[in-house]
Amino acid sequence: MSLPDLLTQLKQKLAELAYLRSTIAILDWDEQIYMPKKGAISRAGTVSYLSGLVHQKVLDLDTDQLLTRLHDALQAEKLDDLDAAIVREVWHDYSRAKKLPLDFVTEFARLSSEAHMAWEEARANEDFKNFQPCLEKILVMSQQEANYLGYTHSPYDALFDSYEPGMTTQELDPLFNELRQFLVPFIQQLQHKGQPIDPKILEGHYPLDEQLQFNLKVAQAMGFDLEGGRIDTSTHPFSIHINPDDVRITTRYNESNLFESLSATIHEAGHALYEQGLQSDQFGTPLAEAGSYGLHESQSRLWENMVGLSRPFWDYYYPELQKHFPKPFNDIDLADFYRAINAVQPSLIRVEADEVTYNLHIILRYEIEKDLLEGQVKVADLPALWNEKVKEYFGLTVPNDTLGVLQDIHWTSGFGYFPSYALGNLYAAQIYAAAEQAIPDLASHISTGQLLVLREWLRQQIHQHGRRHRTSDLLKAVTGEDPSSRHFVDYISKKYKALYGLA
Ligand code: ZN
Repeated sequence: MSLPDLLTQLKQKLAELAYLRSTIAILDWDEQIYMPKKGAISRAGTVSYLSGLVHQKVLDLDTDQLLTRLHDALQAEKLDDLDAAIVREVWHDYSRAKKLPLDFVTEFARLSSEAHMAWEEARANEDFKNFQPCLEKILVMSQQEANYLGYTHSPYDALFDSYEPGMTTQELDPLFNELRQFLVPFIQQLQHKGQPIDPKILEGHYPLDEQLQFNLKVAQAMGFDLEGGRIDTSTHPFSIHINPDDVRITTRYNESNLFESLSATIHEAGHALYEQGLQSDQFGTPLAEAGSYGLHESQSRLWENMVGLSRPFWDYYYPELQKHFPKPFNDIDLADFYRAINAVQPSLIRVEADEVTYNLHIILRYEIEKDLLEGQVKVADLPALWNEKVKEYFGLTVPNDTLGVLQDIHWTSGFGYFPSYALGNLYAAQIYAAAEQAIPDLASHISTGQLLVLREWLRQQIHQHGRRHRTSDLLKAVTGEDPSSRHFVDYISKKYKALYGLA
């Protein structure tokens, strides 16, 4: 078979995989929005069957050595740029899938749903001991997974590679160390030497209808395409892509806290813009998939924080906000409002953290995960270790496990996800600094409500490429630098020193 025929055959198989994956995505969306409670058990069966089918179809990519022959052609440099990227990325995913025995994959999935139930029970009882036996099994299976996948330095690398392909703990450690060394004293400085900020002025009653309208205005101004997307309500906000022309986001509403739904909407719309910016004619191939979890998160955080918490954004949107909510905002001037929405407050809960303290929550989790996988600490020691680190990083005492080590659901399905959140923040700052260079009047566009300029630039520079380049290569092409914590540190110091009146 000729090379073009092999490529055509591969793309057909990838399209079939994409149809299956979109089916799973729509079932997932339905489960979180509409599915009645009683449907859960049958639905789990359906999804587990379809997931098994996906695993099988990934393995089938190499039937008659189809993928091996294409990979040989890639190594002999016989493929053009785009096809080379497709084969490189498909080979990466296939090689990982092939290393995991099918009974291991299904056993892990079963253990995961058992762990989910144990975790909920432990949270309700505020007692880690209910979750401990399950988490011990998850740890053993995760270590086994790392052994199946293989690694050079740390078992963590093997797991982390599914979220940030090609990145290792050797690159991650220095980024996180620099970040921690900056953040811990900086937060103390803001708290003890800065002019205090009182976020209580934001308390009020915010009718749901008005919130809906305001959120919609902002999402549309960002360029979220409602012909190719939807906004719904769910307990935990999320974004999901069925295909590049059907990208859905959700938010949640709290009538006493306007920012819960607004920041979730901006965050999830940021994710959605990435998906809507992928090339739909490449649907099914890695060229229509996001680069990495960290890069995805960079798009949501860039909009949520660098734009949505900036002064230029509120120069334009504050009068609009006052129209929707004359009470309390007619009595609060913009400068006070801007300070209040940016108040820094060390807290116990990651998802409620401000942009300054947030990364410390991630570093804490990463350090624990890595020590667990490397066998340096035991699962039984986690609550004590967690509480010790919270004291050290935030100066806070953890009153119970639910507000501490049990707060996140992530460990019920294994380890390696958390760093992507912090990388997202670092990438966001690095990309935003490049955007400011490339679009010299960016701030004045934003302060006149013209957000599309930024979306267009992001689409050109990041979104349209999909997985054509590895994240670190793309960052280098867009920003001229390797991934670094410098831009985040600069952004945070400059913004918060000004806000807190520090020299
Ligand atoms: Zn996100």
